[in-house]
Amino acid sequence: MSLLDELRAALGHSAVLEGEAMGARPGSDMSLTGMSLPRALIRPRSTEDVATALKLCNEARVPVIAQGGMTGLAGGANPTGNEIAISLERVRGIEEVDVASATMVVKAGTPLEECQRAAADAGLFLALDLGSRGSCTIGGNLSTNAGGIRVIRYGMAREQVLGLEAVLADGTIVSSMNRMLKNNAGYDLKHLFIGSEGTLGLITRAVLRLHPPPGEITTSLCAVASYEKVVALLRAAQSSLGGIVAFEAMWRDYFAFNADALKLRFFAADHPYWVIVESTMGVETIEAFLAQALEDGLISDALVARSHAQAREMWSVRDGYPIEALPNLLNFDVSLPIGHIGDYAEVCTAALKQRWPDAHVSFYGHVGDSNVHICVSTLYGPGEDMHSVDDIVYGVLGRYHGSISAEHGIGTLKRPYLHLSRSAAELALMQRLKQTLDPHGILNPGKVI
Ligand SMILES: Cc1cc2nc3c(=O)[nH]c(=O)nc-3n(C[C@H](O)[C@H](O)[C@H](O)COP(=O)(O)OP(=O)(O)OC[C@H]3O[C@@H](n4cnc5c(N)ncnc54)[C@H](O)[C@@H]3O)c2cc1C
Repeated sequence: MSLLDELRAALGHSAVLEGEAMGARPGSDMSLTGMSLPRALIRPRSTEDVATALKLCNEARVPVIAQGGMTGLAGGANPTGNEIAISLERVRGIEEVDVASATMVVKAGTPLEECQRAAADAGLFLALDLGSRGSCTIGGNLSTNAGGIRVIRYGMAREQVLGLEAVLADGTIVSSMNRMLKNNAGYDLKHLFIGSEGTLGLITRAVLRLHPPPGEITTSLCAVASYEKVVALLRAAQSSLGGIVAFEAMWRDYFAFNADALKLRFFAADHPYWVIVESTMGVETIEAFLAQALEDGLISDALVARSHAQAREMWSVRDGYPIEALPNLLNFDVSLPIGHIGDYAEVCTAALKQRWPDAHVSFYGHVGDSNVHICVSTLYGPGEDMHSVDDIVYGVLGRYHGSISAEHGIGTLKRPYLHLSRSAAELALMQRLKQTLDPHGILNPGKVI
């Protein structure tokens, strides 16, 4: 019997799709760099189904890729044509929201937004939040250790997880569904699977940590004259406004491009930096803080959103959909010490413009988390490819000891540059872990390491 027949016999006919029945979705994540469909698409309904599928694939030595919402930006879920894709879309649902312990138990294929809503319905708050919330899944969020817009207050996806269930390459189910904040009984195994992009096991369920709702969030947009002042504003906001829940900076070119395309104008004058600050302090406290910041010269202007619609307008510039239409757009996701980001942006822009004088280069991102995104659009010359842009962006980053991936992961796109952010000893340990957990190398081969 062929492997696919064995899978059909074990999981049911409708769980195994081939050819056109798969549709185009399993071919590429949102990096849009995937070039092939998988050999087949398996759609298990439960942890046990995932275990059965992995056991059979492992025995047949057939490579496997986990697929969640396919919103990844690093090519991590893209097939090369040889693999069987295992979609978690039917391993979906919220099993429990426990108000007393402020936890929820969810299946890995559940979209993030569904989990956020269930937490809110129970009077609690799931702090993980990203622009792809409607499509990305908890399994994808945890396996990429997603960041997003609330990291400054609540930390990354890793910090929202108390327990995890994963299936190893040989089909062994490792259920580590801890619900306690404190549990130092031996190694914390969940961290093997969080951020490892489906290369060490498939995540099937998780216990997520919930928080009290943050209360009414007030959104302000500040105009700032220099990067040094952006950092000074961050520190002042952190000490005067208690918990700020977002601090998102945009460099002039990024802000102007998107605001113009969206026909939004917030202030009469142009400014080099723009910052969205969100806080749960009352409007009066925030206004007093901004008035003081203006007097101290930290900001040049500020606007407090008077409605959700106005706050959404500010965020629409930050979300930056218009910029996606630029030709050959490459989006980078790097991190480096907060104090160096301004300098890095200048040096990196100069290096890119030296090579491509007409390039569009712009910066924005979660500066409060030491994370900046870079948009580069350029017309390559004959014989050039996107790697020549990568070489400059990551080459300059190396001088600042930054990380080539702040939150999107390594996937395939950043794999050639991993050595810039990890030592030889770290890479060797990663290889040893991979060899131990997946000796036949069937899990997402060619990704991360
Ligand atoms: C508009 C937009 C905004 C975004 N904003 C952010 C942001 O602010 N911060 C951020 O970090 N990311 C962001 N992303 C990237 C993306 O949404 C995240 O990486 C997300 O966590 C991926 O989830 P997914 O379910 O779509 O995973 P997929 O894209 O399907 O897969 C991503 C990786 O995880 C693996 N994987 C998926 N499910 C499992 C599983 N159950 N077990 C093991 N491995 C699995 C895949 O093999 C792949 O390596 C954004 C993307 C878009 C399109």
